[in-house]
Amino acid sequence: MTLTPPTRRRVLSRPPAAAAASVLQVDHGALCRAAMEDSPLATLILDPALRVVYGNQAVRKLVLPHRFSLGQQLEALGFGEGLLSLAEAALVDAEGREMELTRPGRADAGQDQQLSIHLNPLRVAGFSGLIIRVQDITQHLLLEQIRKDFVTNASHELRTPLSLIHGYIETLRSGVVKSTVSQQRCLEVMDKHSRRMMRLIEDMLTISKLESGEAQLNQEYFQVRSCVEDVLEHLTPIIEMKKPHVELQFPQNGMLYGDRFYWDQIYTNLIENAIKQNPQEGLHIKLTGQWTNDAVTLTVADNGVGIPPEDQPFVFKRFFRCARHHSQEIKGTGLGLSIVKRAVDAHGGSISLSSTPGVETCFTLQVPLRPSNLP
Ligand code: ADP
Repeated sequence: MTLTPPTRRRVLSRPPAAAAASVLQVDHGALCRAAMEDSPLATLILDPALRVVYGNQAVRKLVLPHRFSLGQQLEALGFGEGLLSLAEAALVDAEGREMELTRPGRADAGQDQQLSIHLNPLRVAGFSGLIIRVQDITQHLLLEQIRKDFVTNASHELRTPLSLIHGYIETLRSGVVKSTVSQQRCLEVMDKHSRRMMRLIEDMLTISKLESGEAQLNQEYFQVRSCVEDVLEHLTPIIEMKKPHVELQFPQNGMLYGDRFYWDQIYTNLIENAIKQNPQEGLHIKLTGQWTNDAVTLTVADNGVGIPPEDQPFVFKRFFRCARHHSQEIKGTGLGLSIVKRAVDAHGGSISLSSTPGVETCFTLQVPLRPSNLP
């Protein structure tokens, strides 16, 4: 039997006494100031007369357009009366306080700013005053709202097909539907609604993957024209039904470096929309691609009913559907264009829409050929 020799452990040696002493000699005040200066948390120190003794970079940025200088009063920083009275109260009873504050958005930025503020008495080395920490929670609240809206919309969208399926199950169970033909019809309706639910769930998963940044792009070079042709082949059933005239204008060998899976989805959603929103005859769908040295411009245009100007700013939002097209036959998930936009974003590109109802509705995609995230 062979014995393995014991592995040798690396023993950390004690620092020599001189090194330990030098650690103690570090100017801790300077270190703390340096750490606080770069902190993303806006930090303000006030004396008992509520004059600014210290403010880090984040606070100086936060108070803009108000001027920031040492020695000025808290009220000059534009946080409003609420913070002022809270600071006075904290000084009186030496108790910490918290508050949330809404600051009206600047004319250029538009959106109101939501701040979470913590005040604490500060007594150190003969100094007594207040330390105020301010966190900008605008984005956090916005994301929270988006999440809440998403859950509400998703539940609403799933509830309709689910309760229809449930209704049909109850009907079939009750035995009132006697004929096989009628039973078959019930099953077909249930099948249609369960497919709709599946599509909704798949779309929601795709969006959440793209939004969370979890979507790992499997990038490769592919020919855009062949991707479009594959999509048209998958869409053969509705193309044969609606018979649109489809025109392709792509140069030979127009290549793109991207994830073919998402590009299939981009083209499927755009072409499917053009077809399903336009049941009338004479529909013309034109797909083009133009290459320059560093970017490609792709367009998907149709001459159908179009998107009214008042709806155009919202079409890339989740669950948005133009009220005008809200017929049962063409009801989609309202997620198609959100997926398109997020997938194009993930490739470093952008998408825009121009629509003159009845004349031309055109989605234009600009995609860099060498986005910064590529090797
Ligand atoms: P949906 O799943 O409902 O198609 P989308 O996000 O793909 O959702 O599209 C949002 C809405 O934009 C659609 O409900 C439709 O009203 C409108 N839309 C999209 N593309 C077109 C188009 N080519 N022509 C007319 N309306 C369109």
